[in-house]
Amino acid sequence: MLSVEEARARCEAVSPAPRLEEVGIEAALGRVLARDLDCPGSLPPWDNSAMDGFALRALDASGEVVLRVLETIQAGGVGRLEVLPGTCSRIMTGAPLPPGADAVVMREDTELLPGTPEQVRVRGPAAPGQHIRRAGSERRPGERLLSVGSLLGPGAVGLLAGAGIDRVPVWARPRVAVIGTGDELVAPGSPLGPGQIHGSNSLALCGWIEQAGGLAIDCGVAPDTLAGTVDAFGRALSVQPDLLISTGGVSVGDFDFVKEAFASLGVGLDFWKVRMKPGKPLAFGHIGAVPIFGLPGNPVSCQVNFLQFVRPVLRRALGDPRPYLPVVQVRVLDGFHKNPGRAELVRLALRLAEDGSVEGRTTGDQGSGQGSSMAWAHGLALLGVESQGFAPGERLPTQVFDWSFTAREADPTPWRAG
Ligand code: AMP
Ligand code: MG
Repeated sequence: MLSVEEARARCEAVSPAPRLEEVGIEAALGRVLARDLDCPGSLPPWDNSAMDGFALRALDASGEVVLRVLETIQAGGVGRLEVLPGTCSRIMTGAPLPPGADAVVMREDTELLPGTPEQVRVRGPAAPGQHIRRAGSERRPGERLLSVGSLLGPGAVGLLAGAGIDRVPVWARPRVAVIGTGDELVAPGSPLGPGQIHGSNSLALCGWIEQAGGLAIDCGVAPDTLAGTVDAFGRALSVQPDLLISTGGVSVGDFDFVKEAFASLGVGLDFWKVRMKPGKPLAFGHIGAVPIFGLPGNPVSCQVNFLQFVRPVLRRALGDPRPYLPVVQVRVLDGFHKNPGRAELVRLALRLAEDGSVEGRTTGDQGSGQGSSMAWAHGLALLGVESQGFAPGERLPTQVFDWSFTAREADPTPWRAG
């Protein structure tokens, strides 16, 4: 039997290379940047005011002074008149600095005087450069905006848009075809006949795929016949996936046809028993450049196998230089017994303790058919092959796949004091 680490290394050896594509800026959110992006021009493009106020010469305003107002410059406008000694121009936030001016005094530090021509009393002193955002002060032309591998969140998208970039090179979302197998499966919403269950794995897998940044393509459920299974794989391959995943039918049962179907499609197939719980059967092969994963059918095994073996491959194919789930130390509040011989991934519901550390509890029965143990969990405690479980109070390395437990029910967020 392979160790988890060996199985993972073999899967990753065949990660498809990331594909570059260009998308419009409006579709860039959540994508991974495929090239370094440099600033095409100056940011900001010209000197402008950081305040609503008056643009003037700092030399004029070493103390309190009365200045004649030349004009009003709004954002989107341009000052036409040079600011000469004894004058100033009313200026709005974001408007270009007029010629001659080298400082801005904010409106709150001024007082308009009655009469024409318009005059304003300014409370100095004004330092040269005050309340001015200089051209290129954020980025100069050619300076780096974002590096390859950056995840484009709302802030990053805003930065690129602000620099005038409308087309963004990103790594293509890997296309992942998903096949369910099993005569017992019917869709949720359909009544159950004798012996039937509602199929859940394809939906769960599609969810994990989309959450990991892939493009899930649900290719339906194969019946438990060799011809039906071969047929389903053919259909899945015809959508030109980057990865293909099946679930169920990889065990040693009389109606498990995935391995045979691979053989009749000419897929070079490795069949591994991985020394882990849940879910030791894992079939792995590839047709041409398309890696194929035959995941187990039990809902928990299926999802845990996906997270261990498929997700890193998917993230690599997405150009992510850090494809693994984060591991944090969790103090467990309950105990768990385990037999040595296989690694075990125990589902934990997590919460933040008072001091900001992470506490966890097992999510009930850890049977590999218990979808609830996965649905209620935020992470997987990693118990090594020799481990015999854990007692309350122990600290365990835990892979986190859901951070929602870190959100707070009540503000205020504790600020650093002093
Ligand atoms: P198998 O590996 O096909 O023998 O399936 C193992 C167990 O997982 C059986 O109890 C199946 O009914 C169940 N199972 C297989 N596929 C699915 C699925 N897509 N959704 C829910 N349960 C499944
Ligand atoms: Mg089956």
